[in-house]
Amino acid sequence: MTPNKEDYLKCIYEIGTRQEKITNKEVAQLMQVSPPAVTEMVKKLLAEQLLLKDRSVGYILTDLGLKLVSDLYRKHRLIEVFLVNHLGYTTEEIHEEAEVLEHTVSDHFVEQLEKLLHFPKNCPHGGTIPAKGELLVEKTIPL
Ligand SMILES: [Zn+2]
Repeated sequence: MTPNKEDYLKCIYEIGTRQEKITNKEVAQLMQVSPPAVTEMVKKLLAEQLLLKDRSVGYILTDLGLKLVSDLYRKHRLIEVFLVNHLGYTTEEIHEEAEVLEHTVSDHFVEQLEKLLHFPKNCPHGGTIPAKGELLVEKTIPL
């Protein structure tokens, strides 16, 4: 499967939680794509103002980019809770399934899902689930 825009933003966010400087090479490694593929995608992300490029820090997510990433984490983690609580998945099985579903479910679906699950604050791995429209602030360190 070719990684999409959302996967790149998440990848850049994840690198940013571990270190200060984010380079093309690191994104390419983590995404398992070629550096030119990263350059190509980064051009789009810069044009859409989801990302900024800083000479010393490398890539930085804009507020818009951060919002999009937070929303993805929200979807991903609510889906994880659903899979464990209602479909009998084990914690080991849910990540991959949620990776796919997070890109396909609508905002409305996620709101309904959140209600059904009684507004959980954490995913089964311990990651924080941001409320609708809020930025992700990791309160616990996910495994
Ligand atoms: Zn999780």
